[in-house]
Amino acid sequence: YKTIRLVLGDQLNASHSWFQEKNNDTLYVIAELHQETDYVVHHIQKVVAFFAAMKALSSALNKAGHQVLHLTLDDTKDFQDLPSLLAHLLKKYSATAFEYQLPDEYRLREQLSKYTRQLEIDSCAYETQHFYLSDSELSDYFKQDTKHRMEHFYRKMRSRFNLLMEGSSPQGGQWNYDADNRNKIKADDFDKIPEPLIFENDCDDIIERIKAHKIKTMGMMTNNLYWPINRSQSLALLRFFCQHCLKYFGRFQDAMLDQQEMTVQEKYWSLLHSRLSFSLNSKMISPHHVVKQAIEAYQQSDGEITIAQIEGFVRQIIGWREFIRGIYWLNMPQYSQLNYLNASNKMPSWFWTGKTKMNCLKHAISQSLDYAYAHHIQRLMITGNFCLISGIDPTEVDAWYLGIYIDAIEWVEMPNTRGMSQFADGGIVGSKAYAASGNYVNKMSNYCSNCHYKVNKTLEDNACPLNSLYWHFMDKHQDKFANNPRSRMVYANWNKKTDAQRQQVLDKATSLLIDIENL
Ligand code: FAD
Repeated sequence: YKTIRLVLGDQLNASHSWFQEKNNDTLYVIAELHQETDYVVHHIQKVVAFFAAMKALSSALNKAGHQVLHLTLDDTKDFQDLPSLLAHLLKKYSATAFEYQLPDEYRLREQLSKYTRQLEIDSCAYETQHFYLSDSELSDYFKQDTKHRMEHFYRKMRSRFNLLMEGSSPQGGQWNYDADNRNKIKADDFDKIPEPLIFENDCDDIIERIKAHKIKTMGMMTNNLYWPINRSQSLALLRFFCQHCLKYFGRFQDAMLDQQEMTVQEKYWSLLHSRLSFSLNSKMISPHHVVKQAIEAYQQSDGEITIAQIEGFVRQIIGWREFIRGIYWLNMPQYSQLNYLNASNKMPSWFWTGKTKMNCLKHAISQSLDYAYAHHIQRLMITGNFCLISGIDPTEVDAWYLGIYIDAIEWVEMPNTRGMSQFADGGIVGSKAYAASGNYVNKMSNYCSNCHYKVNKTLEDNACPLNSLYWHFMDKHQDKFANNPRSRMVYANWNKKTDAQRQQVLDKATSLLIDIENL
């Protein structure tokens, strides 16, 4: 072979221009690597899903007539890291050129750029051709020393790509229908939630291999993998979403449900969300295709899908997803060290078991362990909020999120976790800290009615821990938040209390933090 081309596990884009031409001189390498299974403890379903999707792409490329070398952990176990494997392959095949697609993760981009700098043969890095904004365009949108806000960026994207626009105005007259997205799911709405479409991918060989190599993982593995592992399954999931979920997507986007309330338990874990994040982040489908299909479904729905629903969905993909990526590249590598609130507490061990008496956390964590999935508000307002108001070290929080979710890759995980949810970036991603007491959880879900703790109490033994922890957090960071117009009312209420009353709440929170393992 003259050229070796590397395809990383999250670069499974069969539509890449690389594959438009067949060339017997080019060998594609797709490899399971210990360095990727071991840099954090991943959910078992996540490792299985990536390996299965890599294998599926290898076979598809092979069938299409490309030369592919698919290497398993058995084949790569003796190589210390990716560069040592590449060095071996380039020599073995006497390759005269090495090509790769730009990694989306800083760690890998650095590793490959360092490796290719010292190579004596030609090397070249290509765009992944996946995102709306190419790598080279990012610096036009994300500039050093400028404050970036998602909403502003999102409007530019809508205009530039002419999505849901009428001339230069947004369709329906409004750019953003977020205010319509704050509904709780009531008993009457239960029949609107479809049972999730799941796949039954037999991955026994991969599971065996992961066990044989003693890869440390977390979470539960079912007999068959539920997640899509190829393009046709990803497209089926997209169709299912457009047909059954999109009409309610925006409306219930922020809602949460205690599955025990449902007649058939454990059926409705993803509510009306798309679960497309794994297909998107592994690049099995493109954001353009997802947005195009969703907009077509909206246009053909005769008004059943309203503008508020489709706008809410398009905003997540062309707005949040692309924005988060821009913020990541603008701020790495310093971003991974930011700890604006100096949080340093240890994450309680029940984050790996779900064994806590707090019903909201028990559900969000158990579901994450069972499915490698939680929807946005569970991530932000249940697990994220708890870590924020308990002052957990953001590096530990990052590691948990990076490991547990099927869609977690650092470029998208870190700005969401360290930034949006932990405010460790001091407001680079969002303008406020998403801190909440039990009251919010009660408003958005039905977790509280079945909980051991009482949401309307603060000091008693059975008081919801979120209440005193919230005030403890707000009090501790008064210097940082008092000037934020959104927090002014909160502090006005807090400061109305007597010193003794405030001290009681703070003492309660301190005792909870000491006993955090047993909450
Ligand atoms: P839907 O609700 O159906 O949304 C559709 C798509 O929009 C998603 O598939 C996703 O691609 C995109 N999207 C929505 N919100 C965001 C966002 N804030 N940032 C980027 N893309 C977004 N998303 C990841 O893909 N990987 C992560 O590791 C990740 N970690 C997160 C950690 C925290 C603390 C929080 C608060 C959010 C995180 N998110 C992450 C964003 C979001 O929660 C997930 O994208 C979403 O829950 C995936 O489920 P879904 O496909 O059903 O999403």
